[in-house]
Amino acid sequence: MDITVKGLEHTYNPRTPFEKRAIYNMDLHIKSGSYTAIIGHTGSGKSTLLQHLNGLLKPTAGSITIGDRTIKAKEKAKHLKSVRKKVGIVFQFPEHQLFEETVEKDIMFGPMNFGVSEEAARERAREMSRLVGLPSEVLDRSPFDLSGGQMRRVAIAGVLAMNPEVIVLDEPTAGLDPKGRHDIMELFYRLHREKGLTTILVTHSMEDAARYAEELIVLHQGTIHLKGTPQEVFSSSGKITEAGLRLPETIQFKYALESKLGIRIEETPLTIQE
Ligand code: ADP
Repeated sequence: MDITVKGLEHTYNPRTPFEKRAIYNMDLHIKSGSYTAIIGHTGSGKSTLLQHLNGLLKPTAGSITIGDRTIKAKEKAKHLKSVRKKVGIVFQFPEHQLFEETVEKDIMFGPMNFGVSEEAARERAREMSRLVGLPSEVLDRSPFDLSGGQMRRVAIAGVLAMNPEVIVLDEPTAGLDPKGRHDIMELFYRLHREKGLTTILVTHSMEDAARYAEELIVLHQGTIHLKGTPQEVFSSSGKITEAGLRLPETIQFKYALESKLGIRIEETPLTIQE
């Protein structure tokens, strides 16, 4: 499902002393089945943009087209709901939204809320938990008895159980240890490759962006500052600095080496943080 953003503008608290234009003059096309990463300094508009991608916010001006549905400033609530079904968002620390008694019920909650029968929802819960690598014996347990990494997988299974065509990931690895981060990023990459899921990753990690995304979008002060393949974006180090970002040495090294040797290095070396 393609996504097209045209002349998008979003102003919080318009016509009040707290008026804040968070996004302006934004044009964007995300191809069906692609993997796009959005990076930018805090306050650059990432979270505002991603809330437009699934109809949580309405544009102040301009439009956003998701598949065959166009959302403009005066959109009706029911249109926004139909978009929400197609675009799943994995928010930061999604496990904070778990609330059911068992893992299975938590994963079933979304589909049942959208009219899927109990039996079909249970079947989806089993399938999605397998997909995200949860052992079947956890389905009857309380999500709150699980480890942090497993809780996050439950929350992700809940989003996938809605069968979204697009998945938006907002810092999906925040708070996980290096192994947990790697496993979750690999999981989303596998879903993208095997299921053709259109994937949009909002991240602070330029290494993850370089490693997984085909297209990178750098936001700065509410608009698109730079856009292109990871190689194109990361070769523009001056513009990266202008956006208030710092290119990790591993990435600088990779692109310096590539241009010196005239070859492509597939793997971006990862810095182990902590
Ligand atoms: P990011 O996700 O890149 O940190 P945001 O989209 O959260 O950026 O914020 C963009 C700008 O909009 C910032 O200046 C921020 O202070 C402002 N902003 C975000 N949310 C609100 C809100 N609910 N009310 C008023 N201003 C907001």
